[in-house]
Amino acid sequence: MTCKQKDKGCKRPHKSKKRRDKGAESHTEMRFRNLVTPFRPRMCYNASMYYYSLSDYVKTEYGEKLYKLSLSSGCTCPNRDGTLGVGGCTFCSAGGSGDFAGDGAVPLEDQIRFAKEKVSGKSHSDRYIAYFQSYTGTYGDLGRLRDLYMEAVHREDVAVLSIATRPDCLGPEVLDLLAELNRVKPLWVELGLQTANEAVADHVHRGYRNEVYERAVKDLNALGIKVITHIIIGLPGESLEDYKASVRFACDCGTWGLKLQLLHVLEGTALAEEYRSGGFATLLMDEYINIICELLPLIPPEVVIHRLTGDGPKKILISPLWSGNKRLVLNTLNRTLKERNIQQGSALQNA
Ligand code: SF4
Repeated sequence: MTCKQKDKGCKRPHKSKKRRDKGAESHTEMRFRNLVTPFRPRMCYNASMYYYSLSDYVKTEYGEKLYKLSLSSGCTCPNRDGTLGVGGCTFCSAGGSGDFAGDGAVPLEDQIRFAKEKVSGKSHSDRYIAYFQSYTGTYGDLGRLRDLYMEAVHREDVAVLSIATRPDCLGPEVLDLLAELNRVKPLWVELGLQTANEAVADHVHRGYRNEVYERAVKDLNALGIKVITHIIIGLPGESLEDYKASVRFACDCGTWGLKLQLLHVLEGTALAEEYRSGGFATLLMDEYINIICELLPLIPPEVVIHRLTGDGPKKILISPLWSGNKRLVLNTLNRTLKERNIQQGSALQNA
């Protein structure tokens, strides 16, 4: 059996240095075949050796790297406008967790043009992921949202529509609209679970119970809509066991993708006050990387990893400041995964 990763330290038997035969397995395919899972992801041969990244998924599915255009739907959030609460989640900045998104008051055409300019130095494709990132993208006048999202999804340069929202803002009419959008182009819906520890969820004013998330994932999966779940690593009072429980819960509920997000303390948030009063400490880079190394083996191999870190807007970032050096964080993380031979899903083999 041949393996093209020999030069990168693969210890599996290698017969020859020649290009592998058609039909022979790659290192990644061998790894995933050996995992006990009822479902094998579609793999591409340049997939990450350690986890199934969004980049791997997109290249396999669309044949090229697609960049995200960070846009705003102009929605607010029921956790901010008084419907559920006024302060929002304690970690949420004034930008509604979409500090890199466009301005919702600007027409979509202009938002897309600005967003394209931002990625023009990196993108070699004329197709993009239209990512409505800020606040609660399914909260508000449905007629307006319908017009906005239909405009986005019918554009030739939009390959995927991605909407971030809350699981308690997915009523029957919203689901009908999402199903309609998903029939035009693939739709991804991002849900902020943040933690499965309900005491911590209450502490950060998340504003819904875990069962609401569970129901939302079921409803979206039933419509064939891909769900991406945000989990925050480092919330006050949480430990490794909490992070593991959150990851297991999201995967058991049927999330398609995961975003593991380092907790950032941002200026102007309730979390910043708690941090300054000594209520909790943020994670060190080594601690964070050790946690990721513990979590990846618990994540089924078919779950797409959309993010393993995250960088808060530097202008309002209070802590941890090391997270501002994204290149250093990613390089250290990748080196550590390699040194420890960490593999997504490996702990599930004998489970
Ligand atoms: S649900 Fe999202 S937008 Fe609303 S307060 Fe929480 S993090 Fe911010």
